[in-house]
Amino acid sequence: MSYDFDLFVIGGGSGGIATARRAAEYGAKVGLAENDRLGGTCVNRGCVPKKLLVYASRFADHFKEAEGYGWSPIQTQCNWQKLITAVNQEVDRLNGIYQRMLDTSQVKIFPAFARFLDPHTLQVGEQQITADKVLIAVGGYPVRPPIPGIEHAILSDDLFNLQEQPKHFVVLGGGYIGVEFACLMNKLGSKVTQIIRQDKILRGFEEDLRTEIQESMIKHGINIINNHQLVSITKGEEGLSIQLKNKAGEDDAMSVDALTLAALGRKAKLENLGLENTAVEVKNNAIVVDQYSHTAEPNIFSVGDCTDRINLTPVAINEGRALADTEFGGKSRIMSHENVPSAVFSTPEAATVGLTEIEAKEKFGEENIKIFRSKFRSMYYTLPNLDEKTLMKLVVHAETNKVLGAHMVGDYAGEIIQGVAIAVKMGATKADFDATVGIHPTSAEEFVTMR
Ligand code: NDP
Repeated sequence: MSYDFDLFVIGGGSGGIATARRAAEYGAKVGLAENDRLGGTCVNRGCVPKKLLVYASRFADHFKEAEGYGWSPIQTQCNWQKLITAVNQEVDRLNGIYQRMLDTSQVKIFPAFARFLDPHTLQVGEQQITADKVLIAVGGYPVRPPIPGIEHAILSDDLFNLQEQPKHFVVLGGGYIGVEFACLMNKLGSKVTQIIRQDKILRGFEEDLRTEIQESMIKHGINIINNHQLVSITKGEEGLSIQLKNKAGEDDAMSVDALTLAALGRKAKLENLGLENTAVEVKNNAIVVDQYSHTAEPNIFSVGDCTDRINLTPVAINEGRALADTEFGGKSRIMSHENVPSAVFSTPEAATVGLTEIEAKEKFGEENIKIFRSKFRSMYYTLPNLDEKTLMKLVVHAETNKVLGAHMVGDYAGEIIQGVAIAVKMGATKADFDATVGIHPTSAEEFVTMR
């Protein structure tokens, strides 16, 4: 049977675009439906605009630090409107680049919503389209859990449209998004309060990193209210009243005249896709796939956040490219989800690859794990005389000497761990790290001199 397309991609985010372009390079006839802007969460309302705001926020400290290096005091403040306009212009520029890349690859774009009528037929806007293979790469969106009054809180998507910088900013949730926005808004000059239900932010991360970032955030003026469960939010004339319960179950409340951000998790965007017209299986609101990104329907595949494996842009891109190589390039391969590095663009920044100390001890037994840890003030902070600490940690398997995990909090942690991740991915031992000559004077050299 002949179809309109060899591959039809639903979703023009990082995973969908990467797959479409790679498949087209192999000569496949590819169509792609996207009913929003091209680039998905990462480009339009995630990684990219967020990182630009992070860069903006870091000048606050640089201006103070400069005084230690002989510069006259600098009195300045950030113009939010100018910043957010520049950020959105950059996003527009990237949208244009994606459009041109897809045009060059001869991927036909449908600016419409796509829905399955059967495994090979899609309703795309007003048209019906058939395809041999279909990729679901629809991503996710930030959720508002069923907490009374949660509609009074904005979501991370809304932040990039704010016309004014909030004087007081309340963050609900202690995950990546909550932590990153708490830090950047604090540095841009808002008074920040963050409410979390655990004792520490960033559940699942290396414990030392969680402690170090949280202590540092508090030192930098963020008010973290921990061990408090969110009960409800009410809106009055004076602003919001947030009802909480502490660990002992006692009621607590805070009244705030503040913009409140709900950073309480994300969810796959599976509504109205017509999955019931296919055999695609959904579990815990994520599309079930095997290691080749195959769903339960033989001609339908899925990559990225909607499969809820590791929800990061480079992971979606790699899953997509592996799929295109396998299905259209004659090079069968899978993407390895082991030792995927990631960063939290908090201030201070944190980055991590491999197993945490707790995970390693659970997997190999406490006696089989050696920990190397170093906490120091980097040379940069000596002249400004600031008590900013860098933390580095290696988790090592005692018997084989293999480095199982590398973790860092401090300036350029993301840049540094990216390099270290290559070594960890290749299975480097602590002896390999030790045999590597340090670059002096840097903070990163500590990774090869730890005892
Ligand atoms: P996360 O799932 O990481 O964090 C959600 C937070 O909300 C947790 O602290 C969670 O607490 C809390 N929470 C959830 N439900 C409730 C509730 N009912 N009451 C109180 N607290 C609640 O989600 P994010 O939205 O921060 O991030 C989503 C994803 O986006 C991440 O998984 C990440 O992959 C990706 N991302 C990556 C970034 C990067 O790479 N730098 C940056 C931003 C996002 P608890 O821990 O107790 O469950």
